[in-house]
Amino acid sequence: MRAPPAGANWKIACGNRSPGLPICPQSMRAPPFDQLSSRISGELVTGGMMRMLYATDASEYQEMPMAVVFPKSESDVREIILFAKENRIGIIPRTAGTSLAGQVVGDGLVVDLSRHFGRILEINTETRRVRVQPGVVRNELNFELAKHGLFFGPETSTANRAMIGGMVGNNSCGSNSIIYGSTRDHLVSVRGFFSDGSEGVLRGLSPSEFEVKCRDGATMEGRIYRSVRTLLTDQNARRLITENFPRQSIPRRNTGYALDLLMDSEALDPAAGKPFDFCKLIAGSEGTLFFGLEFELDCDLLPPPHVALVCGHFHSVDEALRANLVALDFSPSACELIDRHILECTRANHSQAKNRSFVVGDPGAVLVVEIRREEESEMESSVAALQSAWEAAGFGYAMPVLRGNEGNKVWELRRAGQGLMSNVVGDAKPREVVEDTAVDVRDLPAYIAEFKAILQDKYGIGCVYYAHAGSGELHTRPLFDLKTAEGLKTFRGVATDIAHLVKKYHGSLSGEHGDGRLRGEFIPLMVGQECYGLMKAVKAAFDPDNIFNPGKIVGTPPMDTHLRHEPGQPTPEYETVFDFSDALGVVRAAEKCNGSGDCRKSHMAGGTMCPSYMATREEKHTTRARANILRHILNHPADAAKPFDSGEIKEVMDLCLSCKACKSECPSSVDIAKLKAEFLQHYYDSHGVPFRSRLVAGFSDGARLASIAPGIYNAIFQTPWIRKAFNTVVGFHPERTLPKVNRVTLRNWFNSRTPLRPPGKRNGRVQLFCDEFTNFNDLDAGIATVELLELLGYEVVLPKHVESGRASLSKGLIRRAKSFAEDNVRLLSPVVSEKEPLIGIEPSAILGFRDEYPALVGPSLRDAARSLAPHCLLLDEFIAREADAGRIAADHFTDRPQAIHLHGHCHQKALASLDPTIRMLTLPKNYTVKIIPSGCCGMAGSFGYEAEHYDVSMKVGELVLFPAVRKASSEALIAAPGTSCRHQIHDGTRRKALHPAEILRVALK
Ligand SMILES: Cc1cc2nc3c(=O)[nH]c(=O)nc-3n(C[C@H](O)[C@H](O)[C@H](O)COP(=O)(O)OP(=O)(O)OC[C@H]3O[C@@H](n4cnc5c(N)ncnc54)[C@H](O)[C@@H]3O)c2cc1C
Ligand code: SF4
Ligand code: SF4
Repeated sequence: MRAPPAGANWKIACGNRSPGLPICPQSMRAPPFDQLSSRISGELVTGGMMRMLYATDASEYQEMPMAVVFPKSESDVREIILFAKENRIGIIPRTAGTSLAGQVVGDGLVVDLSRHFGRILEINTETRRVRVQPGVVRNELNFELAKHGLFFGPETSTANRAMIGGMVGNNSCGSNSIIYGSTRDHLVSVRGFFSDGSEGVLRGLSPSEFEVKCRDGATMEGRIYRSVRTLLTDQNARRLITENFPRQSIPRRNTGYALDLLMDSEALDPAAGKPFDFCKLIAGSEGTLFFGLEFELDCDLLPPPHVALVCGHFHSVDEALRANLVALDFSPSACELIDRHILECTRANHSQAKNRSFVVGDPGAVLVVEIRREEESEMESSVAALQSAWEAAGFGYAMPVLRGNEGNKVWELRRAGQGLMSNVVGDAKPREVVEDTAVDVRDLPAYIAEFKAILQDKYGIGCVYYAHAGSGELHTRPLFDLKTAEGLKTFRGVATDIAHLVKKYHGSLSGEHGDGRLRGEFIPLMVGQECYGLMKAVKAAFDPDNIFNPGKIVGTPPMDTHLRHEPGQPTPEYETVFDFSDALGVVRAAEKCNGSGDCRKSHMAGGTMCPSYMATREEKHTTRARANILRHILNHPADAAKPFDSGEIKEVMDLCLSCKACKSECPSSVDIAKLKAEFLQHYYDSHGVPFRSRLVAGFSDGARLASIAPGIYNAIFQTPWIRKAFNTVVGFHPERTLPKVNRVTLRNWFNSRTPLRPPGKRNGRVQLFCDEFTNFNDLDAGIATVELLELLGYEVVLPKHVESGRASLSKGLIRRAKSFAEDNVRLLSPVVSEKEPLIGIEPSAILGFRDEYPALVGPSLRDAARSLAPHCLLLDEFIAREADAGRIAADHFTDRPQAIHLHGHCHQKALASLDPTIRMLTLPKNYTVKIIPSGCCGMAGSFGYEAEHYDVSMKVGELVLFPAVRKASSEALIAAPGTSCRHQIHDGTRRKALHPAEILRVALK
């Protein structure tokens, strides 16, 4: 939505505000955003929904910004700064919004740079430097740098979505900081705007260059240099800084402005021997001093190639921290702690459960020590020496070593830890409050012992410990219930007590995450009032009108204000069709999202979540956006009797493909597909079901009708002009082809033929789920499945059942789906068992039994649905299981070589695994399978048919899948278990993809 017309009052400026969204004070006049809108080429949005999306980051804080702007050019940014100055409003630079302390939360104008400022401007291999815009994702930068043997060292756990602007703003670093330091250590220069809109370049200066800058007349830049010279040449100020800032031996120090580093320069102290460098100040200044548009960074050579992770298993965190001091003698590149609580959380997360195979027994903590060396022999001897040193000191009961890529699973698990911890059912969650403290590494065991004692003895709360032990920083997350006044009081109490403890150790309250809204209040305590006064003076010199990210670092409001939850506010309970009791209700299911932004990763990062963000790169189309809007509207419904009746939810759900990737890939397991289906049902209850949704949900009825005269149907709908006309009328895209209807349904074919009974032993009986898609459209896959099973010695039965309900689920007609689910549970429970499983051909149909049915059927059938679920298997899973049991062997199949490229179905990847498909397809001993690293194909049931979604659907396909299929040799086979995926592959590449059953059937001897 564009800005409102001139003179519009603030209420109107709230635009398409849902009655549920916060009301802007009527008395408050809106800044004339229409004027700004006409001065810039980028988009300015004042609508309530978008403002709500930008009201949070990955912290506990929430505040409605006045508007969100997406500048397209540098001159747009300049205009925004001038506008903010004229109207005295704050501007909040923002990139990925993964800050953990509320750095991008505020009531001003959010400037989202992630949309149009994502270019790598120059890679200079001679100087080993790179120039980038703020919206370049850290890992995507490294993808390009790797082509030149370079990389940008600092690595946050969020490196697949965090952007350079934000990394500089927060002075980010990560597990490898022992070797590669923080972003500050790599920042060579920043070009951008001062708060008066004048342009400047900040970089290291010799004393004479510094003096030239100071003499620069009446410019803001000159004034800043002169002010800082006055402030930091004062001997008393220098003494106070030296005495009060964190110890120099602590490499991670993000508390307030880095005045100590700034004053340590030849221009201010001839003995310092270092250039004066404002970059040291800008890194970690959280957008409060300077608006960066171009960052020049030092790069590192690619790390030594030989790597091993020694995973020390200890009985307690304390033992691990003492072992950490021993490990540091072996020049590790990372030393990271994972405690028992995190290891526990990984059990329940589908993606991470696979990564925990290295864990031996039930350790109190694992210390992961990364050893990297140029030579393998060097690496092995360091590993052995470390193990011996630990053994000699009596540390650890197991120390498995993971070499090369094997170690990735440990890092994946460690990275996911932060988000996984929030996946605790209920309102008491592990919160970021004292999780970023850093002390001298030698003080860490004593500091953590005191930390624990405060938490346990004074507050009686437990805590999670993990991360950067090697550099003196442990992330620590106590559990708080911020919905209660008591919880909030403890939140403040713990923050204050730990701030005093950190001060006692001369540590840093923030090691890497920054101060934001959370820690800003404590800066005066940490560095003393006088040093805080110096920081305020620096801010005043850079930003006299306080327009750059106000309320961060200086003048921060109390840490227990502007939170996501208001204490004492009850969590509403609503009646739902799905059972949400595992999350304690639908509202809490939406509240699971902690804003970590994993759903902002691009296709280059792998995985499936979230295809609509991958295709559009817009915050509005992330899983996070959907959860944020749901959380807000359901907590503040316009009409408590119709909480889901919201145009905002509808809009933000529009591009959700219901792929279910979030259910498994989101560390908090936010299940938007389920929430979307629930929402749509209620929305349609109020507004009626659209014709197209009825048509899609009634797919089986339509297909049944068409199958009466399939020849006529196919002749008509395969004629391009008729198809296009039909598509246009029903709301499908004209270019989308329609699936053919089988000449005979699978069920009719099955009933009218003689079963194949090869001589030899019988392997048992299976029930085959004759899903509606295979029955009407995919006869070849159906026949191949039946024949494959029979020829492998299984008796195949087609039991009586109804349709799966998938089409209804995907369109949000979940009451309709519920009746199918209940019928199926009733009909199939008596005949399906572990011995006689239900085998599914189409993943989205059979996986409904495991995923949706137990939460969809009425209470009386819930136990039956739960008992049935584990016996409902994909064909691939069944074949793999039988092969593992020795009942199917390679000698049943050809030994002809065959290359296969496999695209997995989203639901299968989210709820099951592709491993059984690979196992199945490689039963013929010379068949090789390459997984296409695609996420969603983009079709997602009817999504890709729909006129308004067709372009996004094809864009999703073009990210990875289509190029990979086009690149595959013509002799290679393309395998895709999903019917929609095969259709999409055909429409996007004109290549025919096969169901794995078809491939294996042909491979039978
Ligand atoms: C699960 C999780 C794990 C994390 N792990 C780590 C970790 O290992 N190490 C770590 O250091 N951090 C970590 N973080 C914190 C966060 O991811 C990092 O601080 C990250 O670098 C922020 O990048 P962003 O693009 O999200 O920045 P944003 O949150 O968008 O912005 C960060 C700051 O930079 C400012 N800013 C952005 N662009 C500009 C600009 N052009 N000019 C001036 N100021 C600007 C913003 O105003 C803000 O103050 C983690 C966060 C989460 C949720
Ligand atoms: S939806 Fe999940 S991945 Fe996305 S921000 Fe929320 S918690 Fe993180
Ligand atoms: S279901 Fe898929 S498209 Fe929808 S929010 Fe989750 S990951 Fe994104």
